[in-house]
Amino acid sequence: MTNTNPRIMAIANQKGGVGKTTTAVNLATALAAVGRRVLLIDLDPQGNASTGFGIINADRRITTYELVMGEVSVSEAAVPTAIPHLSLIAATIDLSGAELELVSMVRRESRLREALQAVPMPYDYVIIDCPPSLGLVTLNALVAADSVLIPLQCEFYALEGLSHLLKTIELVHQRMNPRLSIQGVVLTMYDRRNSLTSQIEQDVRKFLGTQVYKTVIPRNVRMSEAPSHGKPALIYDMHCAGSKAYLKLASELLRREKKQMEAA
Ligand code: ADP
Ligand code: MG
Repeated sequence: MTNTNPRIMAIANQKGGVGKTTTAVNLATALAAVGRRVLLIDLDPQGNASTGFGIINADRRITTYELVMGEVSVSEAAVPTAIPHLSLIAATIDLSGAELELVSMVRRESRLREALQAVPMPYDYVIIDCPPSLGLVTLNALVAADSVLIPLQCEFYALEGLSHLLKTIELVHQRMNPRLSIQGVVLTMYDRRNSLTSQIEQDVRKFLGTQVYKTVIPRNVRMSEAPSHGKPALIYDMHCAGSKAYLKLASELLRREKKQMEAA
């Protein structure tokens, strides 16, 4: 079966260090592990998702920069990873230039969408790891995507940042991409012993209801060790609490999608 209409999910939150890349890398790995064909697009000039798969800078010859600039196609830019069914388009610091170069380009907010629509894509899921800002590069991801998955760290200013992000998503939905919906919100680096965590969890669940996943991702040191070994945590230590949580998240996500499809 060649599905030429993959589901495109942007992983976004304008705040840095909230678990976007960790979620992108491990969710992509979990989906590939259950046989889905996945393309992970590293859309952050820091290139952490690329590093997380052990792809060194010297091997990042064709990157998301060239893709966004319309110089290469998805099939030219995608490289296989060590994980079966999982390909990646890498990023380098070059992508930081795109933020400025895009400003003066025509259709500056839909360059990524055009690139993704230009060729048939033999994937079930395309996951886009966004940079920590709401600039033009992230806007390109939101315009290209079917849905946004929001990792949220339970800390004091989380809700403030979240409402700003939700407003942006709503604007993009109204003006540029009517397909865009919210895939879900996942609480990351969750710490049960911290009373602030449960307070914020309550607030977020009250505010967003079922859009918040039941699965939470615990704070777990193995998760932060994995990238330096060039492996997703799910491969580095499949049995640690963080890996188990990402497997659970993937099955919750798939279960919800199945329900939505049956309802439609
Ligand atoms: P972002 O992409 O939003 O900037 P990252 O996924 O890079 O966030 O996470 C920020 C830092 O926190 C990284 O060093 C990462 O390894 C670490 N980290 C992410 N998730 C967890 C977790 N569940 N437990 C412990 N450390 C984590
Ligand atoms: Mg990141």
